[in-house]
Amino acid sequence: MEELKTCPFCGEEILAVARKCKHCGEWLPQEDAGQQQEKSAEQQQEQGAAAEEG
Ligand SMILES: [Zn+2]
Repeated sequence: MEELKTCPFCGEEILAVARKCKHCGEWLPQEDAGQQQEKSAEQQQEQGAAAEEG
């Protein structure tokens, strides 16, 4: 299955791995996976994804 996300520029659904929106042609911001950036103010809360082993 391919993950989809919403383009922040045009709102259309695009592939989560896409770097460029195919609808509006805007370049999507790269999300750093693994690296934690210090954010002032509030932090983003991620939805808890429970990984079960077994
Ligand atoms: Zn777009």
